Amino acid sequence: MQSNSNLLAQKAAEAIDEEFLISLAQKFVQIRSVVEPEHGNTELEAANFIAKTFKELGLTPTIQEVTKNRPNIIADWQGSDYDPKKHKTLMFEGHTDVVTEGDPSTWQYPPFAGKIINGKLYGRGSADMKAGIAAAIAALKAIQQVAPELSGRIRFGIVVDEESMMIGIKDYIDKGWAEEVDAAIIAEPEENELCLFQKGAMRVNVMFTGVMSHGAMPYAGVNPIKALSSFLENLKEFEKSEQARLGEHKYLGLPWITPTIIKAPPDGEAQHNVMPAKTFLALDIRTVPGQEHSAIFAQLEEYARAIEANTDKMTIELDLFEQRPWTQTNEDSPIVNALEQAYEIALKQKPKYGGVPGATDGTFLSAWANIPIVTVGPGDREIPHQKNEFVEISEMINAAKLYAATAIKFLAS
Ligand SMILES: [Zn+2]
Repeated sequence: MQSNSNLLAQKAAEAIDEEFLISLAQKFVQIRSVVEPEHGNTELEAANFIAKTFKELGLTPTIQEVTKNRPNIIADWQGSDYDPKKHKTLMFEGHTDVVTEGDPSTWQYPPFAGKIINGKLYGRGSADMKAGIAAAIAALKAIQQVAPELSGRIRFGIVVDEESMMIGIKDYIDKGWAEEVDAAIIAEPEENELCLFQKGAMRVNVMFTGVMSHGAMPYAGVNPIKALSSFLENLKEFEKSEQARLGEHKYLGLPWITPTIIKAPPDGEAQHNVMPAKTFLALDIRTVPGQEHSAIFAQLEEYARAIEANTDKMTIELDLFEQRPWTQTNEDSPIVNALEQAYEIALKQKPKYGGVPGATDGTFLSAWANIPIVTVGPGDREIPHQKNEFVEISEMINAAKLYAATAIKFLAS
């Protein structure tokens, strides 16, 4: 069976229709799926384009609105030998939204022209992550051709809103689409490196409330800025001790606690001779394996309570309004083995490994739905969100080959 599936995996990789893939990625990039509800622009057109592509390949996609005009696209394909009681499902995950192009005049080529120059496809969303989605669809097309009897199922979850609050993948999980999934490949731009780790994130708002007073009579009030300054000192120490405790993670680097916004007062005009009643602080916390979000938050609470205890009429409120746990996929899990073997079969090279510096939709598939995930896709890791975004066409084709061979290795029994 082993050599049979190796041969089939190799055939699937060789069957990638490069012309189909390049044209698909190019047309996809040409759809401006920047989310600007104020201008009526959403992922809708890009999502419909993907749904239409699935239909052309004989699938019956489900178009499921998450919010108005922002649909997830879910599509299944199974081989004729597939038996849901015995066989596995592999999910390919991607997002249709792209970040803003900024000032288009600063781009070398127009950001939604989808120009192909010297083996590179240029445009906003080319790397993050329309090339990855196109590669997964091209992999499906190759598998349909060489393995129509495959004893497994492939599910696509092409969702909205990854670049914001990730409501697309959250909705996908809420609606039960993750339940029968045995493993997922997140097609984000990671230079085709197998990423078994993703960094975690916590977003915390902190409000310091004291008593307003005239700057000439600070003793008449309670200064929230001084409390904030003590809090920041605590955080600096905490960050240092966490970095010393955990050291540098091989793929994720160090954990960080980064203050990103300070506003005093939080609303209205600041005035030089007025000590404000309130001060706002935003924290962007990035975590690595070995840290627990609840313990980090408890430590922040402890600092806040100590400052309150030392300062009359001072209250500090913390709001952990979003958290994305770090993820770690066991290197012995079947999807990792399948990818490692596919690397050698399809790309004739030893697998490369990496780590994801931020959270992805995969974070929620792992944390909420307990699905083993590997993030791997074409595109330079640092190119997303910059101007002149591009993807190397050869890298995109390699991703498609890798995906096709992986699906065979993972699903064929
Ligand atoms: Zn992305």
